[in-house]
Amino acid sequence: MKKDLTQENQALKKELSRLHATLNNVGSYIFTKDINGCYTYGNQFVLNFFQVSMADFIGKDDSHFFSIDEFSELKQNDEQVLKYGKTVEREEKNTIARTGEVRYYWIVKQPIYDEHGDIIGLSGISTDITERKILARQLEQKQKLLDTVLDNVDAYIYMKDRQHRFLYVNKKTTELFQRHINEIIGRTANELQEFENDFDHMDDKVIQSGQQITGEEEFVDEQGKAHYYWSNKVPLFDNNQEVESYIGFSHEITELIELKKELEHKATVDDLTKLANRRHLFEQAGKAFKQSQRSNYPLSTLILDLDYFKAINDNYGHHTGDLVLIRVAQCIKNTIRAHDIAGRIGGEEFCIILPDTSSEDAKLLAERIRDQIAKLSISLPHMDPQTHQLKDDQTEVPSICLTTSIGIAQNKSGDKSISQLLHRADEALYQAKAKGRNQVCGQ
Ligand code: GH3
Ligand code: MG
Ligand code: MG
Repeated sequence: MKKDLTQENQALKKELSRLHATLNNVGSYIFTKDINGCYTYGNQFVLNFFQVSMADFIGKDDSHFFSIDEFSELKQNDEQVLKYGKTVEREEKNTIARTGEVRYYWIVKQPIYDEHGDIIGLSGISTDITERKILARQLEQKQKLLDTVLDNVDAYIYMKDRQHRFLYVNKKTTELFQRHINEIIGRTANELQEFENDFDHMDDKVIQSGQQITGEEEFVDEQGKAHYYWSNKVPLFDNNQEVESYIGFSHEITELIELKKELEHKATVDDLTKLANRRHLFEQAGKAFKQSQRSNYPLSTLILDLDYFKAINDNYGHHTGDLVLIRVAQCIKNTIRAHDIAGRIGGEEFCIILPDTSSEDAKLLAERIRDQIAKLSISLPHMDPQTHQLKDDQTEVPSICLTTSIGIAQNKSGDKSISQLLHRADEALYQAKAKGRNQVCGQ
């Protein structure tokens, strides 16, 4: 009987030491307290933390280990468990008295009952979450930094999924759609506004290619005004290397594009008459020639040179000469059809390209232009014919009449380029001049 008890004792001791070893290796602080809040057990972590031996630890309450304030808070806490049998789960902040170091714990305290169901103490498990908290705070700070940067940068920044639904938008993007962020997330640009845009084009490209795509995008607002963006879209991949989503950065470049268009237009236009300039006219003429070759349609050209124009400059001054050129250009513009191309190719020389037009029809048009110009009577108020200066009074109003000579040429089957056609029109013009001016020659 006695032997059995000894054996049982030894087995229990073994079991207990295994339990101790386990509790010492859990990685958390484990302790128990009696009904008065005095420690009855602490695993090795607890003993190391307080730098005490088990003998010095047992029987002490928290007043031995914490500041007065912290002790009273811990005591109130323990009372919830010891008096009311509650389980307390909460974060605790402890300042280690020895070092002043602040550490955070996630602590769970539960009552311990005796066999009658009365509370006789509590057990506590406390896990050090200081590192996790520091990481969480660092993450929060980084998130704040990122949000501040993203919301203050002068660009539209967004993230979309494969179905082009917004996953993220910065503040500027919410302003573009004039919606709260919650209304934008989960929806596509097309669902958010019914106005025309070509965002899908680049979005599809980045998803299909898995490459970063850069390019221009257009969006027409509710007033019908076109906005242009320079966009950069970067794919993000899932574990299978499939494009999962993409981040877009778009800058509005509307002003730049408008300026570019204006410059491009200016480069094609003659400053004085607003007709096509020489370079643009010949470019268009070349295209029209190729088109006529492809379609086997006739193509005619007219070259006009104003008669005795030098005399107008001499009599009324260069400025007046310019006004006459403007009026002649208007006259030409008003006489030709929408798809004809008129340009100023020299000082007072003009060229008109007439697609799908035979020389007979070109001749009719040329005669009409010649007639219209001959009928022009250009009044020049305020101009002194002697000094060529603006006059103060308006009593004398000179008016200028002028005529023009026109050469015509139509394309022929053997023509290799537009210059052959233009050359024939030029020769016809020379004939018109030679025959006495104010007439149309060529075919
Ligand atoms: P013709 O009937 O033989 O054509 O006589 P013309 O006097 O018109 O002779 P020509 O065509 O050789 O003369 C062109 C004149 O046009 C010379 C120049 O003074 C004038 N001119 C050329 N460019 C401009 C311009 O931009 N503005 C003005 N006002 N005059 C110009
Ligand atoms: Mg000339
Ligand atoms: Mg002339």
